[in-house]
Amino acid sequence: MKKITVIGTGYVGLVSGAGISDFGNNVCCSDIDKEKIELLNKGEIPIYEPSLDELVNRNVKSKRLIFSNNVEDSVQSAEVIFIAVGTPEDKTGNADITTILEVAELIGKNLNNYKVICTKSTVPVGTGKKIIDVINKYNQNNIEFDYCSNPEFLREGKAVSDFLHPDRVVLGVASKKAYDYMKDVYRTLYINKTPLIHTTIETAEMIKYAANAFLALKISYINEVANLCDEIGADINIVTEALGSDGRISPKFLHPGPGFGGSCFPKDTKALIHVAKKYDLDMNTIDAAIKTNNYQRIRMFNKIENLLEGNLKNKKIAVLGLAFKQETDDVRESAAIDIILELINREVSIKAYDPVANDSMKKLIPDIEYKLSWQSAVKECDAVVIMTEWNEFRGMNLEELKELMFTPIILDTRNILNISELKRLEFKFDNVGRK
Ligand code: NAD
Repeated sequence: MKKITVIGTGYVGLVSGAGISDFGNNVCCSDIDKEKIELLNKGEIPIYEPSLDELVNRNVKSKRLIFSNNVEDSVQSAEVIFIAVGTPEDKTGNADITTILEVAELIGKNLNNYKVICTKSTVPVGTGKKIIDVINKYNQNNIEFDYCSNPEFLREGKAVSDFLHPDRVVLGVASKKAYDYMKDVYRTLYINKTPLIHTTIETAEMIKYAANAFLALKISYINEVANLCDEIGADINIVTEALGSDGRISPKFLHPGPGFGGSCFPKDTKALIHVAKKYDLDMNTIDAAIKTNNYQRIRMFNKIENLLEGNLKNKKIAVLGLAFKQETDDVRESAAIDIILELINREVSIKAYDPVANDSMKKLIPDIEYKLSWQSAVKECDAVVIMTEWNEFRGMNLEELKELMFTPIILDTRNILNISELKRLEFKFDNVGRK
């Protein structure tokens, strides 16, 4: 079992750190965000992620998991260092690896004995080499180290079970010694026969982008099919049920909606295109997936406009769901942002509610009304738009909803409401591909 430091205690770093400590390793999750570390040291979890509190508390109690602000110290005391800081989109559409390289510099300056430096953040192909160069530049005493690319595939909302029971672990690592270290870190999974895919650094980096871009393609594809269903009067739910039962296709990521969001697909698809451009290659399918995704936001907005017969000015609309998907408080690139901003542009007054993401959205869009229940959000509204597929919205009492609203008009961008019930209650409604 290894002594590990995870640098960056965000969605990926915290789940990975807690998960790796659950595998029996001693882990220090470090971060420059003092407030975050203080919260964690008080036993509070800074993000909403189901079962994460249990996982963290269990490992803190057993003294395998600690949190620190002192990134330098945590580097010096580790045998394996995971880098899990953010790689947001830069102005050109590429992944911004500035923070990654800053961390590499800090690691280089603090190397005091052999370590494996392992990147979990999603980084463009070729970043591993850059990280190695930066570490070497600051590694004054020529201390031995190895590098590993270990991309992370967890999904927010299911991050804990994804991390503890992954489909595979990808290890892009050249040296046998470092591979053995990594095998030891993931020993629990290895013993349980989780496939460990041992490959080169570049291949590991590529696998992550190829996986995310493929899933984004699947979402855009099903959104286009749903839009066509809208026009020809077919039912996308039955189409996806039949498609998904084909073993070659699988039902996952075949849910039509307002388009993909979150901190990964939007930036990772663009970054892959950016990398391909460097080699004079077009990624036409991914380009199309992005275009379809942008159009899907516009299509949802047009649906609201049509439901209200073009009269948006001074209307009151309730937006139910702000997170980019259910079971997370993450609003990065959420479709709800585009819809809300466009409604604000059209002088609509908005009452928003999300079971856990009100505070995250408030930081981005402070000037709308945030409510603490769906009932208070929809009260006396001219229309309701469901943007996130929370179970709470699936279970809404539609009679109560109708009574509370000024006019019973609803756009269900996640296809979670019962159409017969909406018809029985004489709602004016629309959805994605279920006319
Ligand atoms: P995040 O923004 O939630 O977390 C990043 C953390 O790094 C923050 O807590 C920040 O304070 C910390 N940090 C920044 N600079 C630092 C420094 N110099 N030293 C120490 N800590 C520092 O990001 P995230 O969503 O966890 O994503 C991290 C990486 O993982 C990204 O590359 C992302 O693409 C990838 N990824 C994300 C997901 C996901 O679902 N969120 C899934 C797979 C991969």
